[in-house]
Amino acid sequence: MQHFGIIGGGFSGIVLAIQLIEQSQQSIEISIFEEKALFCKGIAYTPYSKKHILNVPAAKMSAFPDRPNHYLDWLMEDPEYKTLPKDWVGASFTPRYLYGAYLEHLWESYNVLAETKNIKINTYFELVSKIDYKNNVATIQTEKRNEIKVDQCIIATGNMLPSNPNVADSNILKSPLYFQNPWQENSVKNINQDLPILIIGNGLTMVDTVIGLLENQFENKIYTISPNGFNILPHRHNGMQYTQFIEEYREDMNLKDLVHLFRKHIKQVRSLGVSAEPIIDSFRPHTQKVWQRFSDSEKSFFMRKLRHAWGVARHRIPLHIHDKLQKLQIDLKLKMFSGRISGLSLTHTENAFDVKFYNKKTKKEEQITVGRIINCTGPDSNLDYAAPHFLYDLKTQGVITQDFLKLGIEASPISFETINQTGEMNTNLYVIGSHLKGKLWESTAVNELRTQAKLLAEKLLKN
Ligand SMILES: Cc1cc2nc3c(=O)[nH]c(=O)nc-3n(C[C@H](O)[C@H](O)[C@H](O)COP(=O)(O)OP(=O)(O)OC[C@H]3O[C@@H](n4cnc5c(N)ncnc54)[C@H](O)[C@@H]3O)c2cc1C
Repeated sequence: MQHFGIIGGGFSGIVLAIQLIEQSQQSIEISIFEEKALFCKGIAYTPYSKKHILNVPAAKMSAFPDRPNHYLDWLMEDPEYKTLPKDWVGASFTPRYLYGAYLEHLWESYNVLAETKNIKINTYFELVSKIDYKNNVATIQTEKRNEIKVDQCIIATGNMLPSNPNVADSNILKSPLYFQNPWQENSVKNINQDLPILIIGNGLTMVDTVIGLLENQFENKIYTISPNGFNILPHRHNGMQYTQFIEEYREDMNLKDLVHLFRKHIKQVRSLGVSAEPIIDSFRPHTQKVWQRFSDSEKSFFMRKLRHAWGVARHRIPLHIHDKLQKLQIDLKLKMFSGRISGLSLTHTENAFDVKFYNKKTKKEEQITVGRIINCTGPDSNLDYAAPHFLYDLKTQGVITQDFLKLGIEASPISFETINQTGEMNTNLYVIGSHLKGKLWESTAVNELRTQAKLLAEKLLKN
């Protein structure tokens, strides 16, 4: 009986297990390793607030690539949604906790199916501390010292914590006023109301954090800082189709030509009062292929010059949340700086941080004093800073490698096999999810992960 070990029981790990259960024609054994609190849901779908919502409309959140309405149909069974028009619910942004409940429900129903197919499921509610990978055999060790030998081992550990800001004295970051993990509720609890708060980062997690702070009755000012200070954009033209861009796009275009083409079409749609949104969305099915074709210098250029602008255009928020942020800015409760932190120190009373930064707008060095700093710069991908972590160990041993931009783990985007330091495929050590960002760029959202899970299950069951 083939034994599959899946490390990480968030969306990728669970949906991979579901695909294995569905596709398997014979008895298999699946072991999944995950903390109890995050099981089935991962960070994304275990929000601390019911007000944290999906950033993708419900109609696009099915766990299955070949059953696009699966989540929507499940939602329509819910008394809260039952009486509403289905296409409206499909276009809406539902709470993330509800999506977590959908995944739990799916998992339960596939456990029943597993029993009827004589598939053995083992869940280990513990973190993996080490993988011993020798001669293509993986032995998984957990923090509670369980040792499980598996035939095929899959890394599905997803989002890592944000990287810490670069400060001269890193001991400062051990202060209880600094929160590296913005997804935990304590980051917005028990706040000193007498001082403003600084959020580092200006993306989707910043938005969730602002919502969390308001829910906890925080009334002082909220500052955010990011290198470009780009304002997060709303889904303004949700579902609007634009085909002209793709009609002109050619597969052999280099980055420079692509940028020109984007500029031309953005100008065109703006003249009609429409934002770049439908253009960006029309390009989504092509981004993985384009990224793979870029040369290293194009990838480096993109990361240096275009990444932030692309991120803002791609990762939008529902209009009503955007309105809320706008209102906070008008009321001067939320202020967004563009610039970089140049100095961080604790005040002599140690109940606040003095933050120095270069303000790109005023072109001056400025200083603010804040009672808390919450790091919302997004998941880090560089394994060099991940220690202690089994991935760091695997990398140090040369079992796995990273791309030159340290965006992810080197692997085949077709077979998902990881690649070792001599460039050989590790035939029984696979990776899916955001660790494939270096290879695919877009490898974070349900849209891509559900396809990866299906394809990997097909591949694993063929072995
Ligand atoms: C706050 C947030 C909101 C998001 N919202 C959306 C959205 O609305 N729509 C969308 O399409 N995408 C969204 N995403 C993208 C999201 O990353 C994916 O949708 C998906 O949840 C990723 O799943 P994953 O399993 O690959 O990673 P994760 O959800 O990060 O799960 C990986 C799991 O691995 C576990 N793990 C890590 N290390 C170990 C170890 N050593 N041992 C055992 N287990 C380990 C972790 O505990 C974690 O639960 C969001 C992401 C975040 C962070």
